[in-house]
Amino acid sequence: MDPSNRGRLLNKLADLMERDIVYLASLETLDCGKSFANAYGNIQFAIGVARFYAGAADKLGGDTLPADGDYFAYTRKEPIGVCGQIIPWNFPVVLCMEKLSPVLASGCTCVLKPAEQTPLTALYIASLVVEAGIPTGVVNIVPGYGETAGAALTEHMDVDKISFTGSVEVGRLIMKASGDSNLKKVVLELGGKSPNIVFDDADLDKAVECAHEGIMVDMGQVCCAGSRTYVQAGIYDEFVKRSAERAARRTVGSPFDLGNENGTLIDEIQMNKVLDFIESGKSQGARLVCGGSRIGDKGYFIKPTVFADVTEDMRIGCEEIFGPVQSIFKFETVEEVIEKANKTQYGLAAAVHTKDVERALTVAHSVRAGMIWVNNYFNAQPQTPFGGYKMSGNGRELGLDGLREYFETKCVIIKLPNRNS
Ligand code: NAD
Repeated sequence: MDPSNRGRLLNKLADLMERDIVYLASLETLDCGKSFANAYGNIQFAIGVARFYAGAADKLGGDTLPADGDYFAYTRKEPIGVCGQIIPWNFPVVLCMEKLSPVLASGCTCVLKPAEQTPLTALYIASLVVEAGIPTGVVNIVPGYGETAGAALTEHMDVDKISFTGSVEVGRLIMKASGDSNLKKVVLELGGKSPNIVFDDADLDKAVECAHEGIMVDMGQVCCAGSRTYVQAGIYDEFVKRSAERAARRTVGSPFDLGNENGTLIDEIQMNKVLDFIESGKSQGARLVCGGSRIGDKGYFIKPTVFADVTEDMRIGCEEIFGPVQSIFKFETVEEVIEKANKTQYGLAAAVHTKDVERALTVAHSVRAGMIWVNNYFNAQPQTPFGGYKMSGNGRELGLDGLREYFETKCVIIKLPNRNS
């Protein structure tokens, strides 16, 4: 199919998602427990991703190259082939469209496996794929468990690429499966322990709110959550006090009630994992200033929790919690906080809050992470690449960098009767 026609079909899919946005957002909330407002926002973002790649479908091409001697050389961008795509439960529609859109834009095909906890919206999108007129066989959505359906994709000799979003543990298995089968290309978007650094000249109200949202949104089940809040000594006590007050005000309950900022965690396993981290924070000497327990005994609701005086040797200071738990650390100097920010196996995201542009850029350029936010947190856009350094993964999604991951580059070299120059 012509690239511009692939773009048209992707725009048609985006139109259908827009038509059914209330249904899709309701299904997403029902399936994964995030607030309806967030689910709605997520689907608007996913539609934006589809439209960005629809526009890009006929834009990326190869180059003509300044070859020496009597040769003419050019490159072609060819679709990589069959893509296995495996996604987790925390952003089902967003991640589904982050994976499907570049497949359609590039001319690949895919088999996408949603998480076993949240298959509903991906299956609904499959029905919209049919309605949009995307040819049969191009997009295949196959729900199933990781160790069976997921592993089958990673081991398959006819799958050319795996794009995986999920945990580091499973990321390792996928790399191994690639090595043991056909050395398929592997792109991994994994976990994080992202530092959110607040200097004492920052706008305090905005920084407190930003750090709070950066860890509490979607119950903290966000790969790039600001799960290490570093606060400079001069404002530390005031920052801790305001963060505790803000967390105490956060509304938690039915995700369909528009008054609630947080819904429920995904399941009992995840809830118990988070409660175990909270207990470890208490026993390892962090100072609990808000929350610290489950809400009631029905559903998987956890009180927004804030620990102060956290250090990097505590479990809550170095491991990914994936829950509504803010860990606040104290620091004195720029050099110290850069060193601490980088002292992690992860490198997904980081943020810095300051009015001093030189300091902001020093931190932005020194922290080893794929996304750096200055005086904001979480701003991701379809145009901007997303992905991690170190054990947060490899490769990028979103933006044109994300689209390039779906192509092979073929170089054609032609002998000419004369020299080029
Ligand atoms: P997970 O790795 O357990 O599961 C993710 C997906 O992998 C699911 O679809 C699961 O069925 C599948 N899977 C499990 N075992 C498999 C196997 N052996 N072979 C193939 N597939 C297998 O992760 P999770 O607990 O569902 O999600 C949470 C993790 O995902 C966190 O670490 C989080 O940071 C990460 N995450 C990262 C991003 C990102 O963009 N970097 C986004 C969201 C979540």
